[in-house]
Amino acid sequence: MTFTPHGKHLVAGDWTSGETTFASEPAHGPAHEFAVGTPDLVDQACKAAEEAFWTYGYTSREERAAFLTAIADEIEARGEAITEIGTQETGLPAARLQGERGRTTGQLRLFAEHILGGDYLDRRHDAALPDRQPLPRPDLKMVQRPIGPVAVFGASNFPLAFSTAGGDTAAALAAGCPVVVKGHSAHPGTGEIVAEAILAAIKSCGVPPGVFSLIQGGKRDVGTALVTHPLIRAVGFTGSLAGGRALFDLCAQRPDPIPFFGELGSVNPMFILPGAVSARGGAIAEGWAGSLTMGAGQFCTNPGIAVLIEGPDADAFVEGAGKALEPVGAQTMLTDGIAAAYRSGRDRVAGSAGVQEVMTSTCDLRNATPYLYATTGMEWLENEALGEEVFGPLGLVVRASDEAEMLEVARSLHGQLTCTLHLDDGDTALAQKLMPVLERKAGRVLANGFPTGVEVCDSMVHGGPYPASTNFGATSVGTLSIRRFLRPVCYQNLPDALLPGDLQ
Ligand code: NAP
Repeated sequence: MTFTPHGKHLVAGDWTSGETTFASEPAHGPAHEFAVGTPDLVDQACKAAEEAFWTYGYTSREERAAFLTAIADEIEARGEAITEIGTQETGLPAARLQGERGRTTGQLRLFAEHILGGDYLDRRHDAALPDRQPLPRPDLKMVQRPIGPVAVFGASNFPLAFSTAGGDTAAALAAGCPVVVKGHSAHPGTGEIVAEAILAAIKSCGVPPGVFSLIQGGKRDVGTALVTHPLIRAVGFTGSLAGGRALFDLCAQRPDPIPFFGELGSVNPMFILPGAVSARGGAIAEGWAGSLTMGAGQFCTNPGIAVLIEGPDADAFVEGAGKALEPVGAQTMLTDGIAAAYRSGRDRVAGSAGVQEVMTSTCDLRNATPYLYATTGMEWLENEALGEEVFGPLGLVVRASDEAEMLEVARSLHGQLTCTLHLDDGDTALAQKLMPVLERKAGRVLANGFPTGVEVCDSMVHGGPYPASTNFGATSVGTLSIRRFLRPVCYQNLPDALLPGDLQ
């Protein structure tokens, strides 16, 4: 079944066109025209979301679980068409889109189950102590309540799992918050067909249509209008450091600042300790090459930096990584802009003092090929720019002179989504010295593996100190991500009839 987008926005149940359009720029297949978003449409969507909140924010957990499940069913019913338009728009292979669809519907179903369980409400009760001296204690109950309309920015690199009905949307809807999505202009047709699935679920579940709107992109003023709209209560964002920081600052400058949950940049360093390099440096190098080039390196958890201690084992590792990267050919990137940004990141690294080229290649247009560079611990410590993300399949090996310098490199890191240790039994003492540093830097620390592949589950943390994210206390993946869209409210001496259903 081929899907031909009509190119309209979805505002509170109505498909709406606009005065101007932009053409999509698919990696292959036909381009389509899409209405350009406007601040006026953002205003309509936000007002409808606020209106819907008075109903949706008071639905039962059973009703919201049924709605999330219906969205998952409707996405599955459009599975083949979603894969077709998604592969055309993003250049990602069909198997990746199919896997990402499973992840998207899986997380909608996981949230349905999670809210039915009720633990996320964190219900607390301090019973009244009327005879307490010198003062009696009132009856105090606490529960987490939904915060109101949430703005979501679809991510370019996950057209399904971090976009229209992705993790941010699923968490907000599960919490009881209506959502206004600003679609990513790299995949507007994929956004439209997923919005169609959500609308079908709205109709079948009898949910107020203002609960979900999709405003297509096209112009920067849509994002600005959305994060500054007085009715928006929080923002979920995945994207660049520059874009995320601009929107974060707008949220902070509002007369009523609101939380901006941005997942921005990360270089995901791997520390490969001497015992592990000696025992299996070749296998780690091969595994690294696979993780680094997966999806043309367009993963926020892409492990761009490998740190190890100089010596013959380190040299063999570098050689092995170069050999493993060599046969990887050109892969299509998500957009022309992302491909151009990759090449300028490559030029920045290649042109930095003290950086040697290990493996080079040639790429142009919308393609990316792998590159591998090496530097010393000392050069790394002197050049902060080497720690900036290059979004794509580029690796940088940092050779530290000794354990102390490796620790210095770890201390110099900015906030990360992940930090990885490769270690053997003999490496435990060094790993114990690194751990207090790494756990201060990253949302997830892993051993003897690669950080690409983020499990959607209860324990996952996909976040970390700035600039990995703008809120170190939050995650954008896994069930804990619902906390971003909840707010604790304490009810003192309230009669049962006035308490929210979840406390009665
Ligand atoms: P982006 O440029 O940050 O854009 C993300 C979203 O924010 C888009 O909807 C964009 O709108 C909007 N936006 C950005 N700056 C804005 C501003 N100043 N005012 C209003 N809206 C703004 O990210 P991208 O397009 O996905 O990719 C570009 C770069 O982001 C990549 O090269 C890569 O470096 C990085 N990236 C990182 C991750 C990660 O997980 N860390 C993921 C994806 C991308 P428009 O589309 O209208 O511009």
